[in-house]
Amino acid sequence: MEKLKKIISSIDHRGYKAYKQLKGSYSFNGFTLFIDYVQGDPFASPSRLRVRVPQKIAGFSKDLYSNKPRKTALEDYISRAFAKSIKKISRGIIGTGKSGIIVIDSGKQEILQRTACVVNDEFVEARFYAGLPAIGRTILGKNCLEMLTKEIPEITNLSLLIKNLDPEEIKKHIEVCEDQEYIRKILHENKLVSFIKNGSILPRRSGISDSPLPESEATAFRSPPELEVTLEAPNAGTIKGMGVPEGITLIIGGGFHGKTTLLKAIERGIYNHVPGDGREYVVTIYSAVKIRAEEGRNIQKVNISPFISNLPFGKDTIKFSTANASGSTSQAANIIEALECESRLLLIDEDTSATNFLIRDEMMQKIVPKDKEPITPFIDRVREIHKKLQTSSIMVMGGSGDYFEVADNIIMMDCYLPFIVTEKAEKIIKCRKDIRISEATSPFGNLTHRIPLPSSINPFMGKKKKVKSRGLDNIMFGIQSIDLSAVEQIVDPSQVNAISDIILYALDKNYIDGEKTINTILEIVLNDIEKNGLDIISGYYKGQHPGSYAMPRKFEVAAALNRLRTLKVLHNS
Ligand code: ADP
Ligand code: MG
Repeated sequence: MEKLKKIISSIDHRGYKAYKQLKGSYSFNGFTLFIDYVQGDPFASPSRLRVRVPQKIAGFSKDLYSNKPRKTALEDYISRAFAKSIKKISRGIIGTGKSGIIVIDSGKQEILQRTACVVNDEFVEARFYAGLPAIGRTILGKNCLEMLTKEIPEITNLSLLIKNLDPEEIKKHIEVCEDQEYIRKILHENKLVSFIKNGSILPRRSGISDSPLPESEATAFRSPPELEVTLEAPNAGTIKGMGVPEGITLIIGGGFHGKTTLLKAIERGIYNHVPGDGREYVVTIYSAVKIRAEEGRNIQKVNISPFISNLPFGKDTIKFSTANASGSTSQAANIIEALECESRLLLIDEDTSATNFLIRDEMMQKIVPKDKEPITPFIDRVREIHKKLQTSSIMVMGGSGDYFEVADNIIMMDCYLPFIVTEKAEKIIKCRKDIRISEATSPFGNLTHRIPLPSSINPFMGKKKKVKSRGLDNIMFGIQSIDLSAVEQIVDPSQVNAISDIILYALDKNYIDGEKTINTILEIVLNDIEKNGLDIISGYYKGQHPGSYAMPRKFEVAAALNRLRTLKVLHNS
């Protein structure tokens, strides 16, 4: 610390570049401060810092991080505590640009594996950013001294030592996360794809807020007796709720009765949620993929022939490529791409689907003959997808009864509560006169896996590698812009950050070698991450601050690759 004070006083009032001398590590009373990277000017992205407290001093007992979900939850908790302490202690902006700010990448409603905090037997480390203070380009030594030797030690003290945290709150955070992970694991042996605990609060505060609607305004979830299951969670003990069985599940009901809200909660059930979210016991199998129409997207040689064939002018649908997909072709490609990565649950909402992809009724069949209609609607493939590929579907369909016939379970939402109407619907089907004919004239066939060609994935802009994520929706990849706005299960900008660097990592490691399929490549990367941590995807990382990553799934990484407009692929024979 004395060394640090000396350097700061020697560079006070000098040009910003002199801050570069700060790079290094400094022992403080009870922790070490690492300055891994110093920004070039007050407007550049802030400097990268870490504080590391020896576990002997931090005092987190081993059982708080004894398995993966617990460790993830504890690290998540500490980064949130760090963020809270910043709010309390930091003076914020002083001077020019980002001068004075301190930020850490902490989570929102989900508990994701992230790189902002590390806990192990030796130490607890928080990785964060700071804007080293300056006025114009002149170093503000006094402010810098205050930030590095007063604010940061206080923030560290408040958030990295168990004695200054709330043990009950930590316990809850960890146990809820462990329970969700456990339930997700046992869904399969219970032949379920999703579980929604009684009493869950599904609706969100607003279209732009992911926090729960206040309990006074929300109808708490209650399972219909027919689908109620009892599960044993390691911490919560016996819990009851609705188990959505494998197979085809239909969610019907009047407009504004909560259909989409239920599906959205199921869709987010792939992630663990924080206590108090309302969805902390809404758990869905990890490979569930939301499928929607996405007009205008790029498609590269996807075999959409199970859904689309006989296009006008003989256009190929086994290797279907377009720079401008229609609603139905995009939805077909989204399904096939999810299946390529072994999704075991498709989630479809009529609100975001192409109608002609979902259904063609008997009247339309009478006027437009099959040989004039390239689309085999999803209704005629959904059972086959389950039987052949063990992939279930949950669909929201308020506007058409045609799916009654193919559904194993029909849930009707009535004033935000679910009721089972499967039998009632079966009776109605039996009475019906006009029967629609299945349009699947040939079997679904085998999935075609695609092999990406490394030469088509170019991260360079001129001579420099330039890959940057922007918020939730966009990656600048070389000179290409990847649009992720229709990839609905990305919840955190730091996931997008990780997605872009995972693609770079797969390139660097030669995993994208013109021989491996997309799924194989991503399995290998995920395996590397599982073994060596999320830090490894950073080109920066050599025991330094790796930047801010939150764990994405392979489906979202594949989605980014699939939306790269230069991508070229081979078919795996
Ligand atoms: P649908 O898809 O059936 O048309 P939505 O799921 O979009 O209906 O829900 C309509 C409105 O009702 C939304 O504003 C939503 O936030 C609200 N809502 C949904 N479920 C609940 C609930 N359980 N309690 C209170 N409000 C809810
Ligand atoms: Mg809806």
